Order: sequence, then C-alpha cells, then structure tokens
Amino acid sequence: VSIDPASLRILHYPHPILRRRARAVERVDEEVQAVARRMVELMIEAEGVGLAATQVGLPWRMFVCRDRAEGAPIDTYVNPQLHLSGDIEAEEEGCLSLPEIRAPIRRSAAARLAALDLEGRSVQREASGFIARVWQHEFDHLNGVLIIDRMTPMDRLAARRGLRNLESAAG
Ligand SMILES: [Zn+2]
Repeated sequence: VSIDPASLRILHYPHPILRRRARAVERVDEEVQAVARRMVELMIEAEGVGLAATQVGLPWRMFVCRDRAEGAPIDTYVNPQLHLSGDIEAEEEGCLSLPEIRAPIRRSAAARLAALDLEGRSVQREASGFIARVWQHEFDHLNGVLIIDRMTPMDRLAARRGLRNLESAAG
C-alpha cells in the first residue's frame, strides 16, 4: 500500500491511532523520506517543534523535531532509542494533537538518542534542556503516550473541558 504524503494531516485526540504503539521502520526508503518531508511541512505550518508519525496516522517509529531558535536545523529520527539522565524538571508543554491544552510535564533534563537518519545512517546525539524534552515528548508518541497521561491529577482536571471539546469535535 503506498501512501500519498500530501494527504497526511495532523490527527487530534481522541483519534485511536494516537494510542497505538508504533512499529520499527524496516527500511528508510523513498516513501519514508517523502513522509518525513511532509511531516516537516506540517510541523512548520502548525508552528510546532516536533511531530511523530503516529500523529499523522502512521504507526511508524519516526519523528521530526527542531529547536525553537529561528533557523534551527530540522532533524528526522527513525527507530529512535532514548537513554535518559539528569534531574527531573517540570516545564509547560503543548501538543499538536491536543490543541489548546498545556500543562507542566515532568521530564528528564538530559537525554542521549540513537537513531537512523533519513539516509539510513546511524546517528547518536546528546542534548539537555529544551530539545531533550522534545525528544521525550515525541518518543512518548511512538508508544501511544500523550501529555495527558503525564499530567498531575489537578492539571488533568483543568484540561477536562478542552478534552471534552476535542472529543465532541471528533463526533
Ligand atoms: Zn505531541
């Protein structure tokens, strides 16, 4: 089954695919590259800093991300593995699949990432702070985990109306 990248859209909660565990990408081929390019387009259009393949309806272990600085490079990571370190810090996060919802989320301050790039080469990266947080957020998506799962009960209560709006928008 071939995919038309132009038809891909960012899916919102409570779309069931957002809850699926994505599977490894077997080969970084032209289709995977075309999907990644489309994901970058959608991420930029939505002014986001990260987007996982599950968010466009594909259960693939792949995400795109960028630092928030203007002109920062955009990276694509296929079959990523994350090793977390450092203190746990809470910072406010949003999600392109959960519009209007923001809450402080506890994450590790630093991370080491191993993945394939879009040419299928192994890459290793280390980061702390903002981009380490983005990696963890996107990595969660590949396991069907959303920020609402990581909110405190109080924050989840506060997000309830926003979630209901999304649920009724989905019909
Ligand atoms: Zn997200």
